[in-house]
Amino acid sequence: MGQDEKVCVNYKNVKKKIGEAATKAKRKLGSIELIAVGKTFGADRMKPLLQDGHRLFGENRVQEAESKWPAIRKSFSGVELHLIGGLQTNKVKAAVQLFDVIETLDRPRLARVLAKEIALSGKKLTFFIQVNTGNEPQKSGISPHEADAFIHFCRDELELSVAGLMCIPPTNEEPSMHFALLKKIAERNGIENLSMGMSSDYEVAIQFGATHVRVGSAIFGERC
Ligand SMILES: *Cc1c(COP(=O)(O)O)cnc(C)c1O
Repeated sequence: MGQDEKVCVNYKNVKKKIGEAATKAKRKLGSIELIAVGKTFGADRMKPLLQDGHRLFGENRVQEAESKWPAIRKSFSGVELHLIGGLQTNKVKAAVQLFDVIETLDRPRLARVLAKEIALSGKKLTFFIQVNTGNEPQKSGISPHEADAFIHFCRDELELSVAGLMCIPPTNEEPSMHFALLKKIAERNGIENLSMGMSSDYEVAIQFGATHVRVGSAIFGERC
């Protein structure tokens, strides 16, 4: 099997498993979006999915996205690109130009800089707030006990369009309690979307209410 064919087979397999997990959770298939995470892979690896009609992608680095997606967008319309990696304030201008959704809004200073840049650029962007559900010191994300106040600040004071919450559970822990915690925070704040679940645990995430799963290696293969 060629590389392109492999990507297509993997993609269909992931879609099928999403469908099965949705059925098992008694959820509508249309309520779960697959974000294909293309990081470390070049535009060529994205092409088979684009040709198959897939339009929703995630990248974790501004610079990498910059070298890849403007060119792809010229050939394929309707691409929706999500930033799923940490954002430094000095990259905000570029990020606002490149991305449709930023899933890693996680601190007041970043929120302020983003709000200013959005006002300047006139571009419409949607945000997910990243919550550090495991309270890991090395990980970005607002801590769970500060989440409500931060959501209020972003949504009501800065008037950012906050559509969802996102989390990356600690690698060596059962992810379900983290998924459940994220859902709880979303519910009490009237937030609809949950970006949670990666290649290893997207089916579990769907059981816990994920509306967006971020899948990389299960589609594109192992990263170097
Ligand atoms: C890389 C990455 C993913 C995808 O990881 P896989 O295990 O390859 O599916 C999802 N979310 C974030 C934030 C990532 O950085």
